[in-house]
Amino acid sequence: MHAERAPAVPVGWTPSSWRSHPARQMPHYDDAALLETVEARLRRYPPLVFAGETRRLKAQLAKAARGEAFVLQGGACAESFNEFTADIVRDTFRVLLQMAVVLTFAAKVPVVKIGRMAGQYAKPRSSDTETQNGVTLPCYRGDIINGPEFTAETRLPDPRRMETGYFQSAGVMNLLRAFASGGYANLHQVHRWNLGFVERSPLAERYRHLAQRIDETLSFMGACGFDQTAPQINETDFYTSHEALLLPYEQALTRVDSLSGEWYDCSAHFVWIGDRTRQPEGAHVEFLRGVRNPIGIKVGPTTTISDLEKLLEILNPADEAGRITLISRMGATKVREHLPPLLEAVRRTGRTVTWLCDPMHGNTISTADKIKTRSFDAILQEVRGFFDVFSEAGLRPGGIHVEMTGQNVTECVGGAHCLTEADLAGRYETFCDPRLNAEQSLEMAFLLAEELKG
Ligand code: PEP
Ligand code: MN
Repeated sequence: MHAERAPAVPVGWTPSSWRSHPARQMPHYDDAALLETVEARLRRYPPLVFAGETRRLKAQLAKAARGEAFVLQGGACAESFNEFTADIVRDTFRVLLQMAVVLTFAAKVPVVKIGRMAGQYAKPRSSDTETQNGVTLPCYRGDIINGPEFTAETRLPDPRRMETGYFQSAGVMNLLRAFASGGYANLHQVHRWNLGFVERSPLAERYRHLAQRIDETLSFMGACGFDQTAPQINETDFYTSHEALLLPYEQALTRVDSLSGEWYDCSAHFVWIGDRTRQPEGAHVEFLRGVRNPIGIKVGPTTTISDLEKLLEILNPADEAGRITLISRMGATKVREHLPPLLEAVRRTGRTVTWLCDPMHGNTISTADKIKTRSFDAILQEVRGFFDVFSEAGLRPGGIHVEMTGQNVTECVGGAHCLTEADLAGRYETFCDPRLNAEQSLEMAFLLAEELKG
């Protein structure tokens, strides 16, 4: 049975109707005229994605809701304007593909790949200000809003940064599209990278078996005469996503699709609402109500059943499958207790949602030196808890959402190379939350593969 199609534009919604709702986490721009000029320019620029692509992603997310696909969403907590280089984009893309091959083999369903890339520039913060050596300044809110350097000038929100964000997103997107269809995503190549990872790993013995089985499967397919030039071997679908936080930017990139007459936020394929901006009456919910993209909602220990029910009604009244992805971010010690009642409440509504596990945001800790980190073990433990909650409910999990990078940074402790707090200073490069490095990300994929194949 198919749910009724949602009307193209919900009652009362316009791309700017969010402006009459309370908006949390939004910067104040002193220069209103400059803000308007930048918004007007952005409104004329080409969209970054095509609505048809976001509809295809929505269909794949609908499959993940039914257990017929598995979602891998990953990338930096915050992309940085300074890290606008081919190497950084390539390495994150490559590690996501490597993880996806392992997960595909284990889960035996297609893996839907979504980068937190090409636009993940705006950050919600827990405090409006930051104090250093007795000096208090506005906090850093992501490169699309202000700069990370601790000076009054860079911390002032500057609307021109939205334009830089747009052009850099376009540059990253262009490279991702080239990699996805130009031969870089070749399955044999990605598998060879994985073999290299396994041989370097202190846990090589543990991972080798799975890698060998993938190897044999690929050889078998070759021997059977599978066309090695086929798109299934040489290309991949790769989607982009970011938190829809900075609404003037998102509004300016929101366009009517000429094929369907529907509104799409064309800044990315998938956009999500963060844990701090998911108030049912708030501006962020109002904005996302009217765009037809697949959207995510972060769900944390403070999410109430009543708010969740309201959000599903407001954001997906016609219960379109693939429209809503709930991203659970409970914390390793809370997931087994807090998730089941929410899962059950959603089930009672009879609505279709895709559930992902974000094992990062409930597991952030501070070291004695006040460095933010996360432990590999806590991250793994939260995903295991999430998978267990699903299997106890007789359901298949929809996928995972991780903060990671293809660089060998030292931001999360633990993993096979046993990074310690003392190692964090070595390559601590994040501008926001600590990310799994390349090796830790691949390890996570290999360990989760063991769970997924049961
Ligand atoms: C994030 O994904 O970087 C984030 C801020 O998450 P949350 O809204 O779940 O805290
Ligand atoms: Mn984060």
